[in-house]
Amino acid sequence: MLLSRTCPACKTGGTQLRKNRYSQGDWVLKECLSCGFVFLENPPDYATLQGQFPWENTSGIQNEARRKSYSRSENVVRSAIRGVRSLTNTVIRRNKHVSLGYRYFRQGWIVDLGCGLGNFGPLPPSCKLLGIEISNQIVADARPIFESRGGRIIHADVLSGLQSLEAASCDGALVESYLEHEVQPAEVLRELSRVLRAKSAIILKLPNYACWNRRVRGKKWCGFRLPDHVNYFTPNTLRTMLGQQGFEIVKFTFLDRLWTNDNMWCVARKREH
Ligand SMILES: [Zn+2]
Repeated sequence: MLLSRTCPACKTGGTQLRKNRYSQGDWVLKECLSCGFVFLENPPDYATLQGQFPWENTSGIQNEARRKSYSRSENVVRSAIRGVRSLTNTVIRRNKHVSLGYRYFRQGWIVDLGCGLGNFGPLPPSCKLLGIEISNQIVADARPIFESRGGRIIHADVLSGLQSLEAASCDGALVESYLEHEVQPAEVLRELSRVLRAKSAIILKLPNYACWNRRVRGKKWCGFRLPDHVNYFTPNTLRTMLGQQGFEIVKFTFLDRLWTNDNMWCVARKREH
């Protein structure tokens, strides 16, 4: 079954939503004229997504199709962007969550939203990972990995998984390559804020819709994965949504949201009040 969404950021609907030129086939991307948020209006619901479009299948197919679609001139632009990016990546450590985890997490349970196989770097030894994952196959594979490290995994969609946790029972969160997939990002962030203790940090990584590569590549930008990616955040819309759901930005510098990078990194913290 396909959903029909209003703007996930400000809940505006109807004529305040304009069809975005990056819509593809049956997948309709909309831009909210009230707040500027770009999103997939008609994503599959969780059950359909799991049954017909599991991420572990569709991402490989789309990568291959994208690779074959490059023209010669596009390859020149891509290699130029890659050149700039490799320079900047020597300055910014690619494996950022390792150092960020050590810097911002102290102890206790760290919730990993849409945890996949637990593709995390080392965290401080006093931290334990609590993964939430919807995919049957991934949970089966990930459970022994999490448990061998003293953590555990909840098999559920992220919103239900968070709702099953007690208030103020967790001490941090990893939100990596997840928020772009979530049909209810504001509700999830609000629920995450409830389960975190005050001042707990969350580390986010997600595609940056405002990056140069999206402007150059258009529909072929690697950030467009339909119907997997249902939200297209810019630094501004990310900042706004985090603020509305009880978080304050801790670290979101120019280097964390470079126009040459497809992804952006952000560290936020649950506000005290
Ligand atoms: Zn909106």
